[in-house]
Amino acid sequence: MEDCIFCKIVAGKIPSKKIYEDEHVFAFHDINPVAPVHFMIIPKKHVDSLAHVTDKDAPVLGHILAIAGRLASDQGSPEGFRTIVNTGRIGRQDVYHLHVHVIGGPNPLPRMIAKE
Ligand code: AMP
Ligand code: ZN
Repeated sequence: MEDCIFCKIVAGKIPSKKIYEDEHVFAFHDINPVAPVHFMIIPKKHVDSLAHVTDKDAPVLGHILAIAGRLASDQGSPEGFRTIVNTGRIGRQDVYHLHVHVIGGPNPLPRMIAKE
């Protein structure tokens, strides 16, 4: 999709620190990490958000979750990690190409969400 920053990353038009790629997904480090391990796994096919997926997207979504643990372990988070999919205005999504954040490291993360 034109003007989508993550589509441009998949196409190699914008540089990224890639950690994994296959036919359907692309994984790369977050440019602004919030923990020692912080990368994103995205479908290569543009989908705006989790609120826009259909059953047709189920295989790639399952694939993303299926590889998350191995990639997290490879990246230095072998004892667990957190996955986050920010969705829409309420979820504070900034980039409208569906992405699964994988966040972790050697130490436990802060609890889920800080109360405002
Ligand atoms: P969100 O849409 O709020 O789930 O978050 C989008 C994430 O994309 C943020 O954590 C950004 O740091 C990250 N991000 C934005 N631009 C880039 C980029 N060019 N390369 C890597 N990560 C990026
Ligand atoms: Zn896109």
